[in-house]
Amino acid sequence: MFKQNRVFSIISFVFIATFILLRGAAAQPQNTGFLYPPYFGTTTVNSIFDHEYPVYDDEIKYVGEAITTTLMHNDGVRYQDTANNIPGYSGHDGIDYGLRYQYVLASHAGTVLEAGWDDPANHRLNLGLAVQLETTHNGETYQTDYGHLSALWVSQGEMVDAAGDLLGISGSTGNSTGPHLHFSVHDTADADMNPYGWGGGAIVDPWSQVATGMVSLNLWADRDGNGTNDPPSISNSTVYSSGAVLAPTFTDPRLTPDLAISTTYILDDSDDEFTTIGLWQTETCAAATDCYEDEWHHTVISDVTAVWQPAAGELYAQEYDLYAYIPQGATTTQASYRINHNSTYHWAGIRQNGFFASTNQRWAYLGRYEFTGDGSEYIQLTSKNEGIPGTDDEVTGVNIGRRVEQRHWKLLLRKQRDLTFRAGDAGASPRRACTSAAV
Ligand SMILES: [Zn+2]
Repeated sequence: MFKQNRVFSIISFVFIATFILLRGAAAQPQNTGFLYPPYFGTTTVNSIFDHEYPVYDDEIKYVGEAITTTLMHNDGVRYQDTANNIPGYSGHDGIDYGLRYQYVLASHAGTVLEAGWDDPANHRLNLGLAVQLETTHNGETYQTDYGHLSALWVSQGEMVDAAGDLLGISGSTGNSTGPHLHFSVHDTADADMNPYGWGGGAIVDPWSQVATGMVSLNLWADRDGNGTNDPPSISNSTVYSSGAVLAPTFTDPRLTPDLAISTTYILDDSDDEFTTIGLWQTETCAAATDCYEDEWHHTVISDVTAVWQPAAGELYAQEYDLYAYIPQGATTTQASYRINHNSTYHWAGIRQNGFFASTNQRWAYLGRYEFTGDGSEYIQLTSKNEGIPGTDDEVTGVNIGRRVEQRHWKLLLRKQRDLTFRAGDAGASPRRACTSAAV
């Protein structure tokens, strides 16, 4: 999956680097930059790239010697983690942007190498729901990773036509303590690189010393044509330079459904399109904020699945915006939805207990999906393996809104419980939390 073993990656890199050296002193390709911002508007950088040992799993020199340090390196200065108001932590191999359930954009055209759970067996591991794009630029093959998403709009093998195309919605899946976008860039040899380049001037980039050929290039495209790289727009620009705001160029779907539309249609867990597998029980809502419109909900006492399958002809053949209702007090760390539509499927996952504020009920946007309405399509909610039987997690509804025309359909998927991440699983990951570094 995504960046699964850096030790091997780096070893293989050494071979490839050797190969490159044997090819002769070919001139480094002129890098003009090709990356576009992975988001609209402006956000914060919550965690920078550690130039010293950006080896995420743990800090290992390329010779295989494990090191222990809490120091990180940025632009010529070593810092204790988070000291001196530098956001980041030792070993971080990418950039964390402070997106909160917002659109995530392709930073370049390319092929979708991966789109799904980093570890299908554990949705709380690594990058969670993530996309990896690949492209070739100036003779070098690059991959970009977009991690901790809540919903995907692309699937594996798909072509992304242009930078700025939608990949999904940011979130907090995987090993994440709060919603953000983990963005990382690596090259043919799977060597991490900082797309902002190295700002240390005459001081040698530490990353270039870890292994031959490790480079830090400013890969941001020159968007305004003035000859300089234009990074994404950030509000804490003491960390990296800030570029111009990238404005949406498409018609935005609604991040929250318009419930005022009179033709809104709600499908919930009390209708006959809702079926369950496993041990479920129903409860009435203790408070209106516990359920959507004060209706009843389901709880579970073991791993279970719930499916909402609209009947043939109920949905028109077109794209729908899909929403999940997050009730107040929801405690689920990973509500996982599989959206089977138009002979394919996508995943969405919501960390309900961190969705904006736990005191707020609201809709979570799960992306836009094309349905045929042939009756075979469904949305499945499952506890995966995160559940603790008997615990009091809440799960949610889902809402489908039609993209165009005046009529909106809504499919409200209702509650499930039992999705709390097992405490024992936390230690199973050798990786650190990709923190949101709330500043
Ligand atoms: Zn990160």
